[in-house]
Amino acid sequence: MPAITRRDLLKAGMAGAGALAAAGLGFDVAVAESTKVKQNLRIAGAKESHSICPYCAVGCSLVAYTRQNADGSVQLLQIEGDPDSPVNEGRLCPKGATAMQLATSPRRVESPQYRAAGATSWKSVTWEFALGKIAQNIKASRDASFVTTDGNGNTVNRTEGIAFAGGAAFSSEEGYFATKLMRGLGLVHLEQQARV
Ligand code: SF4
Repeated sequence: MPAITRRDLLKAGMAGAGALAAAGLGFDVAVAESTKVKQNLRIAGAKESHSICPYCAVGCSLVAYTRQNADGSVQLLQIEGDPDSPVNEGRLCPKGATAMQLATSPRRVESPQYRAAGATSWKSVTWEFALGKIAQNIKASRDASFVTTDGNGNTVNRTEGIAFAGGAAFSSEEGYFATKLMRGLGLVHLEQQARV
């Protein structure tokens, strides 16, 4: 067994005092806490999906974290700004930061709402009813407002009785399709949230 010198004894004592001081400052507690946080990270092992904030024309990128539960259901854990996006670089404005509420809010409206002419309240209807109603109203408005020629006798085949506004979450293809459809019906008043 090697002999312990006075210098060795002093070094051992200083190391022990240092460890005691660190414990006194709470370093060991902090390490334990950080390990616990890492183990309990809400998004650990979650599936990462990319999307776009639907609220405005800036089009900030989002990352949604989901996990499949044992019963097969998919649980949305977190939505945050995408740090790889050149648009928002991981940031979201206060409105976009609430994007998760779109999916999880107990106040979320989950079916089309309809208020009949003269009625004072809205009622939930099926998509089949809502789409049928929209189609009927478009036809009625188009029939009532369609003009084939303008005041100078030029052929115009248009309706100014209907306007259409696209949303910021439209993809290029959806925007193209919607524009084709609306122009085909003779609409001239088309707008897109990205230009507002
Ligand atoms: S996070 Fe804010 S700025 Fe970005 S797209 Fe959504 S609403 Fe617009």
